[in-house]
Amino acid sequence: MLKVTPVAHETEPAAPSMIPTHASERAAALREQLTRASYEYYALDRPSLSDSDYDRLFRELQTLEAQYPALLTSDSPTQRVGATPQSAFGRHAHLVPMISLGNAFSDDELSEWEAKLVRVAGRDIAESGFTAELKIDGAAISLTYEHGLLVTGATRGDGTTGENVTLNVRTVRDIPLRLHGDAPEKLEIRGELYLPFDGFERMNEERVRLGEPVFANPRNAAAGALRQLNPAITASRPLRFFGYTAVLPDGRTPAESQWELLDQLAAWGIPVAPHRQRCTAITELHAWAYEVEHTLRAELNFAIDGGVIKVDSVRVQQDLGVIGGREPRWAIARKFAADIAETTLADIQVNTGRTGVLTPYAVLEPVLVGGTTVTFATLHNADLIASKDLRIGDRVQIKRAGDVIPQVIGPVPEKRDGTQQPWQPPTHCPSCKSPVAREEDGVGLYCPNVLCPGRQLEGLVHFAARDCMDIDGLSYQRIKQLLDAALVHDAADLYTLTVDQLLPLERFAEKSAENLIAAISASRAHPLSRLLFALGIRHVGGQAAQLLARRFGTLDALMNASLEEISAVRGIGDVIARSVRAFFDDPTSRALVDRLRTLGVRLDEPEAQQASGALNGAVVVITGTLPTLSRGEATALVERAGGRVTSSVSRKTTFLVAGADPGGKLDKANELGVKVIGEDELQALVGG
Ligand code: NAD
Repeated sequence: MLKVTPVAHETEPAAPSMIPTHASERAAALREQLTRASYEYYALDRPSLSDSDYDRLFRELQTLEAQYPALLTSDSPTQRVGATPQSAFGRHAHLVPMISLGNAFSDDELSEWEAKLVRVAGRDIAESGFTAELKIDGAAISLTYEHGLLVTGATRGDGTTGENVTLNVRTVRDIPLRLHGDAPEKLEIRGELYLPFDGFERMNEERVRLGEPVFANPRNAAAGALRQLNPAITASRPLRFFGYTAVLPDGRTPAESQWELLDQLAAWGIPVAPHRQRCTAITELHAWAYEVEHTLRAELNFAIDGGVIKVDSVRVQQDLGVIGGREPRWAIARKFAADIAETTLADIQVNTGRTGVLTPYAVLEPVLVGGTTVTFATLHNADLIASKDLRIGDRVQIKRAGDVIPQVIGPVPEKRDGTQQPWQPPTHCPSCKSPVAREEDGVGLYCPNVLCPGRQLEGLVHFAARDCMDIDGLSYQRIKQLLDAALVHDAADLYTLTVDQLLPLERFAEKSAENLIAAISASRAHPLSRLLFALGIRHVGGQAAQLLARRFGTLDALMNASLEEISAVRGIGDVIARSVRAFFDDPTSRALVDRLRTLGVRLDEPEAQQASGALNGAVVVITGTLPTLSRGEATALVERAGGRVTSSVSRKTTFLVAGADPGGKLDKANELGVKVIGEDELQALVGG
């Protein structure tokens, strides 16, 4: 059996006599601030600090205490878990303490943790491997089952003793009152109680209607619901549960590995969080964390604040033990950048989209969320602003996950000081000043003027976008410049531009003007599917455009097809078919197509793509400067061979084509183990 002595600090300590005054004063201030924040967070469910600020201050105190151990007091927040249980509930003593977790805020910190484990436990770590799980951002609870029946539900409390909230826990529908199959005589199952986002939003909308304060985030709402004195109130909240561990009265775990334990929980009928993974190499853990943070997180209907990495073998876990009574050495939270933050709603403005839809958006005081500074957030439509009772000047909660557009969760009404102003929907289009109209569904507002400059601008931005005609260098600002100078009005005008016309414009030099004209010209060669998407026909996204292009082969065939023929295409519904027909029945659209044809824009779908190509089904990313092909030409090559070109590397990427100065995408591909090839290999793959 491996011997591990619990240690609270792993850095070089200083002698007590050498503690500078500023360090002891700072430690005392941090202790006080963190203790107050913990009380607000755990006991009141109303944090005044953001989690990332709390984590930063916590780290600072840990570092000070490691440097000057004499500063360590037994009541320091670094030595405690949670908060003292409230007296309103009965107490429940946990079979084994419910402790906290150490944190890794980056891949490097995770690697350091793993390297330390390997130093301590050697080959046992490689043989055991790890289980990676989502870190659910809810409230920790323990469920005691006796003879398979739920007898007690308790909060974590201070880790040793929690509050007995059995009546409330019994109202949570996905917590089984009786375990399925054979269960030990007595055991405690632990996990996280949470509120899914949709339930949370519904709950807050209801509270706005009733004039009650809304909850800041799903975690606080879940913790608050759990500790209601009236179980009927808890029952009315859509709480859910995920289990992640279990413990027997003698402290043993009822499985040999964490992975098997999760399977066992599922077999007992306990919900287990999705996307868990068994890994052996540290690079696999990095890749898993990356995918969860940047892709999966945005798809989840519940909040996570990271992943939890656990040594898989229960025997090795026991050998590794606990650090300072507070966190297991064998598990660590790989924390992600916070995806919820609070800021001020400075203004609400309205954008005219390419189809005329008027979309309100929030102008925010810049705030760091999900690892990026956010200044704007979508507000969808006027009714949503009213249902959330958002007022200009409000403190608001913002959510951002992965590449998803930031959203406003809702206001924090208790922070109002009377200066906040309700918002009035626009009566006129902010771009062309035409009176606005209501959409058929009665919810959206739109500008009915087809020649509205706002619509033209958004239409051209869409036309030039990467998924559409992929015109490198034709940015929002450039398009605005071209429209303001009256050099273009519609997409066809782009193909008439010359270097001489661009040169007098601000920020254009000979080289940049030539590059832009070349990029526009190269886009002529894209297949019909891209053009169809780029034209901005209502309801026709990239997928529908491909289906139509493949079925009809040429734009003429599609323009002359009947409504029935269009809606007969697999994957194309009536709504899309009617929209396509209406678009081509409009003389303006036909005139645009005629001009595009005259200007040499390709109006057919390459044969190779209709038949089976060498790259059928492949997802390809291109980066850097290729020796002979432009980005547009390489994309066309891939598409002609049946592949699809996307802009970012993920686990779904089949291969990355890298040229000179490849940048971050190459690192990402290496990290994820995605195959990397050069232009010559690409040419060889598609048959020269
Ligand atoms: P923690 O939340 O960082 O990690 C431990 C907890 O993770 C466990 O108790 C468990 O409930 C939970 N968890 C979720 N999924 C899990 C899984 N799959 N496996 C194991 N555990 C899982 O630590 P903590 O001690 O509960 O709380 C400290 C954190 O709380 C801080 O890092 C901070 O983010 C937040 N906090 C914030 C404030 C504030 O003022 N904003 C105050 C106190 C604490």
